[in-house]
Amino acid sequence: MKTSVIGYPRIGTLRELKFAVEKYLKKELTKEELQAIASKLREENWKVQKNNGIDFITSNDFSFYDNLLDTAVLLNIVPNRYRQLKLDALDEYFAMARGYQGDKGDVKALPMKKWFNTNYHYIVPEIDDDTEVLLVGSKPFDEYVEAKNCGIETKSAIIGAFTFLKLVKFTGKRTVEDSIADIARAYSDILNKFSVLGAGWVQFDEPALCMDLSEEDIVLFSKIYERILSEKKNTKVLLQTYFGDIRDCYNKVVTMPFDGIGLDFVEGKKTLELVKSFGFSENKTLFAGVVNGKNIWRNNYSNTVNLIRELGEYCNEIVLSTSCSLIHVPYTLKNESSLFQEYKKHLAFAEEKLTELSELKKILSCSDPASTEEYVDNQKLFNLPRNCEENTAVQSAVSGLSKDDFIRYPDSGEREKIQKAVFSLPLLPTTTIGSLPQTAEVKENRSNYKKGKITFEQYVTFIKGKIAEWIALQEKIGLDVLVHGEFERNDMVEYFGENLDGFLITEKGWVQSYGTRCVKPPIIWGDISRSKPITVDYSLYAQSLTSKCVKGMLTGPVTILNWSFPREDISLKDCAFQIALAIKDEVLELEANGIKIIQIDEAALREKLPLRKSDWHSEYLDWAIPAFRLVHSGVKPETQIHTHMCYSEFADIIKDIENMDADVITFEAARSDLSIVDTLSECGFKTQVGPGVYDIHSPRIPGIQEIKKALIKMLEKIPKEKLWVNPDCGLKTRGKTETVASLENLVIAAKEIRRSL
Ligand code: GLN
Ligand code: ZN
Repeated sequence: MKTSVIGYPRIGTLRELKFAVEKYLKKELTKEELQAIASKLREENWKVQKNNGIDFITSNDFSFYDNLLDTAVLLNIVPNRYRQLKLDALDEYFAMARGYQGDKGDVKALPMKKWFNTNYHYIVPEIDDDTEVLLVGSKPFDEYVEAKNCGIETKSAIIGAFTFLKLVKFTGKRTVEDSIADIARAYSDILNKFSVLGAGWVQFDEPALCMDLSEEDIVLFSKIYERILSEKKNTKVLLQTYFGDIRDCYNKVVTMPFDGIGLDFVEGKKTLELVKSFGFSENKTLFAGVVNGKNIWRNNYSNTVNLIRELGEYCNEIVLSTSCSLIHVPYTLKNESSLFQEYKKHLAFAEEKLTELSELKKILSCSDPASTEEYVDNQKLFNLPRNCEENTAVQSAVSGLSKDDFIRYPDSGEREKIQKAVFSLPLLPTTTIGSLPQTAEVKENRSNYKKGKITFEQYVTFIKGKIAEWIALQEKIGLDVLVHGEFERNDMVEYFGENLDGFLITEKGWVQSYGTRCVKPPIIWGDISRSKPITVDYSLYAQSLTSKCVKGMLTGPVTILNWSFPREDISLKDCAFQIALAIKDEVLELEANGIKIIQIDEAALREKLPLRKSDWHSEYLDWAIPAFRLVHSGVKPETQIHTHMCYSEFADIIKDIENMDADVITFEAARSDLSIVDTLSECGFKTQVGPGVYDIHSPRIPGIQEIKKALIKMLEKIPKEKLWVNPDCGLKTRGKTETVASLENLVIAAKEIRRSL
């Protein structure tokens, strides 16, 4: 039995790649220096896998920014507007990823989208009518050879042709159908090149096969792979799927001449059933995804051994594999010096998952697996109940929830009337999404306090100073509803993780979210509860400085859950309800202290929407939406509840979003050409809305006319009584000067339009 890893994190155990790329982009590092750092990181990754006895080690899982973008570049898919900048290859690549503004031109970045049901984001390549799809790049081959020179044979991981075509955007008349021949040719060329290099295996990643597939999709898939596989030479082909099961094409796939098929037994609910009902092919290798690539809990060896034994009845050759790339988990527990061993022994980050694979391999090659030391130790871990800090009060609160706990009275129409009278805000009220610039001094204040360099009093005094400064600024700018600015928060989820009971916080548990951006998801260890107020002091302080309303600012339960590593011993639903009850207490305490508007962010509501539509409600929305409702169901009619969402792909779950029963919803819209506005009007959306009037992801200052234009467009579809004016998202990544200038323009634009109404 052998072991395989689908992909390994690449950002560096201490985020070395992130910092190197950022320095390179600021011209503080030469290209050669950047390449050298990258090469060293790749080598370390391969070696750590090798040292842990992994048989199928992956290359080409490295990327300076994103591997879908790498694939596009490999295949000559570069829009002309980037070519015209006449930059060298690496800079052209970064121009596509991040946009370019300089002496060679001014071009925006390609759009970015969420990678299936994860918090990783890919760059969306564009195929124009005149794009010639052709193998032109050498990255996978270079990295294969580079690994070989380190003495390591690798399988190159390349995003498969089907998934690539499903994710790419066709900008002109050309269709997927028109591209089949070229794409198949290019992928055959890739295979040929690997044959010439003497590579044993190539891995084509096809997570798109785990989505709902239509008949046409299956035909497309077959057409492409029949062509690619017909030219297969010595290099074997692994069709690697993950993030679910491939129920729509399993039958087809097992009859095709792949040498290996990678199936996900962790997220693939039906994977085992498919193998058992339809069998597996005699001359293929099953790469069984048994070690969870998305969560951080130890593998239960007894379950895995039983599963592999069961599979052994259907498959001749099995390779033990991760369920998906390990890019979704942190590097290693070795860097967690303050996490107690009592906790750590239940956890496995990427490196520890390598150990699990090799231990499983050893156990399974034993005639009596249950007698091996590794198996016995693992069983000890699972036989003893994990000390997960149970909180019976919370548990019974969740089990005692009744229908009424999820309903807010009176209904939204009634509340709107009451609130209009209470707040007497002008038409098109102006506000921001919550965070204000996290300047170097703001970050330094937090890190100085964490390192013990300043006292708690000094830390708080600084934050209060910032709050006062920005309350005054917001008043001067003329915003109608103010925020305190979130200067105490590192991240909207980790902050609540730190302040609620039941979470573990890692020191170095970074996970790549996109490009050079990483997040450090907290771990949900036990039952979640709130033992003290979290945001009340700063909120009240901010409110004490002004006669305008300052929004209380919280993160919602679904977002906290989705951006954490969840427990697996209780359901996501129960976990979401526990968090909801904790946040609910915070909401009620803010309200009791006189805070009249409370925003509960659900930035990540869409994130864990299942890949298959048939599961959307039964497995997700049916508890996710109630979890949000639970948080605010207990407030008074006159308390105004806002929520915020960071994405604009709304149309398909618009009814569910309305069902959250918030009073006001703000969301990202400016980057997506306000397309959401049409959706809102088509479905007769009743909640008041604030579609963002400008994109906050760049330092660019939006002009007054530009904002007015956006508002006029919105007012064509949205009744004026329902419209709020705000930026797309929080302003924490922006500088102070540009933020003030942008908000001044926003207020002027809103006032001018107001006058014309
Ligand atoms: N209130 C948060 C902020 O402004 C919301 C961030 C988000 O939507 N990602 O930073
Ligand atoms: Zn946002």
